[in-house]
Amino acid sequence: NYAVQAYFTVILLYITRLMSTGKSKLLPPKLLTLDFSERIRTDTSAIESASRDYGNIVHESPVAVLYPSSVQDIVSLIKFAYNCSVPFTVSARGRSHSVFGQAMAPKGVIIDMMHLRNHREKTGVIVSKNPSLGFYADVGGEQLWIDVLKATMEHGLAPVSWTDYLYLTVGGTLSNAGISGQSFRYGPQISNVYEMDVVTGTGELVTCSAHRNSDLFYAVLGGLGQFGVITRARIAIEPAPKKVKWVRMLYSDFSAFTKDQERLISINGRKQSNALDYVEGSLLMNQGPPNNWRSSFFPSSDIPRIMSLVTQHGIIYCLEVAKYYDDTTQHSVAKELQQMYEGLSFIAGFKLEKDVSYVEFLDRVRSGELKLQSQGLWDVPHPWLNIFLPKSRISDFNSGVFQDIVLKRNITTGPVLIYPMNRNKWDDRTSAVIPDEEVFYTVGFLHSSGFDDWQRHDDQNKDLLKFCEKAGIKVTKYFPNYKTKEEWINHFGSKWTTFQENKYLFDPKMMLSPGQRIFN
Ligand code: FAD
Repeated sequence: NYAVQAYFTVILLYITRLMSTGKSKLLPPKLLTLDFSERIRTDTSAIESASRDYGNIVHESPVAVLYPSSVQDIVSLIKFAYNCSVPFTVSARGRSHSVFGQAMAPKGVIIDMMHLRNHREKTGVIVSKNPSLGFYADVGGEQLWIDVLKATMEHGLAPVSWTDYLYLTVGGTLSNAGISGQSFRYGPQISNVYEMDVVTGTGELVTCSAHRNSDLFYAVLGGLGQFGVITRARIAIEPAPKKVKWVRMLYSDFSAFTKDQERLISINGRKQSNALDYVEGSLLMNQGPPNNWRSSFFPSSDIPRIMSLVTQHGIIYCLEVAKYYDDTTQHSVAKELQQMYEGLSFIAGFKLEKDVSYVEFLDRVRSGELKLQSQGLWDVPHPWLNIFLPKSRISDFNSGVFQDIVLKRNITTGPVLIYPMNRNKWDDRTSAVIPDEEVFYTVGFLHSSGFDDWQRHDDQNKDLLKFCEKAGIKVTKYFPNYKTKEEWINHFGSKWTTFQENKYLFDPKMMLSPGQRIFN
């Protein structure tokens, strides 16, 4: 009896201490005496910056931020948290370009991954070659994709699968999927990883691949940060092209637009020379100019005639493709594109073409970002919605969502993307969830809003999801954010059991990436 009484007294004392002390004292005091403690900060500026993300909608404060100078710091922190009698949560924070607090750790500790960039040998990107893989790059999980591009280009090489925007970390995009117009042919970024080093939720540094610790390897890819911190990824790279033919074609008819997109992505062999290298699409509407932060493509002389087309039709669908080339293929590429145009149904006179360097093409979002930053408009709230939809229902989605909800409300601000991908380029063993059909679409509403009106965009997002539910259109969220366990189980569907079992295995004390709100 005395033992039970003493036990409860200790618990009560601990709770009282938590409630009566400052935030930094929520952490075990011993944490601040360990050998890496000088790299842990609890001051207001560190806490505030770790309480924000690109979405600027959710703000949750950690009690401390670790600025690691080595992978060992990450191992030591997680091991310490795991061995505490009351473990605390820990979240890797990449560039914090999530939109609903996914990289936050309320009352826990943030690992500021980007800080590692200052401490890596060489650039944190090491290019090598071996007989079985050919060329590959070992890349720190904290590296930005733009730095991976720069470092690999020094060897005339580059990764094959990208995101539209390159100022994101390798660990951050591999925790989701990493998609762009290259995905239809090369798969998402998670399909182009050979091996990783991961610090699991028990503080163990484990090397994993499809052949070694494969459960961890597949769990972590698309795993929303739940199973470990990626400290290194070995990724596929290939000889980089020099130049890009970048083309946009306009459509007023949605079914002609999607038929052409689907036809273009059906030629998708990695070595097939007549395949395109990039296929995307977007909506042009009256709410904004055809050029936006995502890329400034249309020459100003063409904007009046494009806008009058938009006024006439309400929505214009813009098919965007790219074909890479170099000195040896520059003559054949124009011919191949010419042949391709002949089979497509875009509006006559509305095909616009550009020649740009490969790096300029991949880094096309940066100039828009810098412009918005200079106007103080990059850090506004971003109530984004990114979803995957089966091909069989894309036309119903167009009529119920684009042509009805979006057009009538007339509040959409920011790019709306729509493009198809091939399921067979994704590995079903990863944690990422995609629709069941062989071809599926991604649709992204990339809203920027004012500080006090993000809610109406979020309401529109909710309403269109409701529409889909009612119409029986099965939507899978990309960058999911849910509040209840039931919703998460529904999201993962047949993958839920494995996802949960992996959590018990690799993060048994449920410490990692609490901002995703799956197990916390
Ligand atoms: P964070 O937001 O910092 O983290 C995201 C999640 O990953 C968190 O749960 C975090 O704990 C976890 N995490 C971070 N680092 C690690 C690590 N090393 N190990 C384990 N877990 C980790 N996505 C696309 O797929 N395609 C696009 O074209 C695209 N374009 C974008 C453009 C912009 C302007 C923005 C803001 C986002 C875009 N995204 C795109 C979304 C982006 O890929 C995700 O938000 C991604 O998570 C951002 O990376 P990050 O480094 O900012 O990750």
